[in-house]
Amino acid sequence: MAKKRIYLSSPTMHGEEQAFVKEAFDTNWVAPLGPNVNALEKEMAEYTGCGYAAALSAGTAAIHLALKLLDVKQDDVIFVSDLTFSATCNPIVYENGTPVFIDAEPDTWNMSPAALERAYEKYPNPKAVIVVHLYGTPAKLDEIMRICENHGTPLIEDAAESLSSTYKGRHTGTYGKYGIYSFNGNKIITTSGGGMLVSAEEEAVKKATFLATQARDPARHYQHSQIGYNYRMSNVTAGIGRGQLLHLEEHKAAKKAIYEQYKAAFADIPEITMNPMNPQGDANNWLSCMTIARDCDVTPDMVMDALDQKINAESRPIWKPMHLQPVFAAYDFFPHNGDGSSVDEEIFDRGLCLPSDIKNTPEDMELLIKTVRDCFRA
Ligand SMILES: *Cc1c(COP(=O)(O)O)cnc(C)c1O
Repeated sequence: MAKKRIYLSSPTMHGEEQAFVKEAFDTNWVAPLGPNVNALEKEMAEYTGCGYAAALSAGTAAIHLALKLLDVKQDDVIFVSDLTFSATCNPIVYENGTPVFIDAEPDTWNMSPAALERAYEKYPNPKAVIVVHLYGTPAKLDEIMRICENHGTPLIEDAAESLSSTYKGRHTGTYGKYGIYSFNGNKIITTSGGGMLVSAEEEAVKKATFLATQARDPARHYQHSQIGYNYRMSNVTAGIGRGQLLHLEEHKAAKKAIYEQYKAAFADIPEITMNPMNPQGDANNWLSCMTIARDCDVTPDMVMDALDQKINAESRPIWKPMHLQPVFAAYDFFPHNGDGSSVDEEIFDRGLCLPSDIKNTPEDMELLIKTVRDCFRA
């Protein structure tokens, strides 16, 4: 019999989700609005301390609406983390804005404050900065916020991967003017698909909700003064989210334990370095990642192949940097290093994401660790 698949990060359900979904069915609230949607917004606002929240169909939709709230238009420049998933920057191009990619720094793998400063020398008036908290590790928010404040630029936090991570005791996603979360299937909690826009500004969140429901003016007849979107979360999926939220801290603890176990297990292999943590923060360790020393003959592909072929385990490369993507080739990129070399190219070349599914058993973890370790025995 084929060995069971060991996943990178798949949904973990608990049971309460079904009760909330059942309630939606029983009350016939099967619609892109309803009590679960309102409750999930309230519960997320309380949990994160963000102020106000709008439940949406995706994290990508939340980023798009954050840009709409900032009135991003044709040719507006947006500084954005380069080492990320394309969903972070696609919405910039939806609005015909111009993404300008900012390299990572080696300490947290997030936006480099030094590269950000350099970007302002060429583009003094960006419309926004979008910072990502990659793999759940909080970015250097103090430094980045100081730079944004000095230039009067609003900050959007892409906290899609970092829900439950904190920076100096406060949730990631609540520092910027706008924050976004994702409830996609692979994230730390899921609604199958969904996202959220959060802000301390009630009016902004109301406006986002308005835009997300086709921008219907408050009139009895169907009247529209603006272009709207169909971006609201369904009351059914919001029910899944409410059940998941009850287990978020538990998921975080389990993800952290996976990271710590890998870290301890590879501590005696000098060629392996785990993805860095920010000492100012408490990460959710959404994905555990490792890099392999440049002078080592073992490549990330070799480790990924061994995991897949020997034990049927799913791993994956580090996100391919945006400035290396064919679709974004025309846009500017600011490297971290003074000599023009890129930190995130190095992470991409030498790194991989390890299986980080919280349903993995102790036996799975043992097998995973042994398989990786075996790659490094000559
Ligand atoms: C998952 C993800 C998104 C997009 O979220 P969706 O809910 O899938 O639209 C955005 N940014 C990052 C960094 C992500 O990992």
